[in-house]
Amino acid sequence: MSNHTGQCLCGDIKYVVNAEPLMAGVCHCRNCQRQGGSAFSTLWGVPKVAVTFTAGSPKCYSDSDTDSGGTVQRFFCGECGSPIYSLVPGQDEMMFLKTGTLDNADDFTPGFHIWCDRKQPWVEIPAGMPTMAKGS
Ligand SMILES: [Zn+2]
Ligand SMILES: [Zn+2]
Repeated sequence: MSNHTGQCLCGDIKYVVNAEPLMAGVCHCRNCQRQGGSAFSTLWGVPKVAVTFTAGSPKCYSDSDTDSGGTVQRFFCGECGSPIYSLVPGQDEMMFLKTGTLDNADDFTPGFHIWCDRKQPWVEIPAGMPTMAKGS
C-alpha cells in the first residue's frame, strides 16, 4: 500500500511516493491561499527520498514573503501551473506534497490544521481537530 502516484493538471509532471505520509495537515496561510487560488492547502509531509518524478520536473518559486518569515520553496508545473510540493526551512528531510495532485486524492485525511488565524471565516474545522494559530 505504500505507493502513491500523482500528477499535475496537464500531466507534464508525474510522481510516485514510495512511503506513507508522516503527517497530513491543512495550511490556511495567506500564501497557500494565493498560490492555490483557494482557501487552503492540503498537505502530506513525506520523506524527500521517497518521492520520484517519473515525468517532467517542477519549476521552483522561492517564496520569501511568508507569514512565518522563512523562505518556502514552492514547486509547480511550469506548463499548467498546478502546485506540486513545497520545501520548508528547518525541515530538510521532508517534502510537503499538495495532495490535490494525488491520483487518489481521497487518500488524504487531515490530522491537524495550521495558520488558523488566517483561516477564511466560512471554513469550519471539526470539533476535536488539533489546530494551531500559526505554523508551529
Ligand atoms: Zn502541468
Ligand atoms: Zn501555507
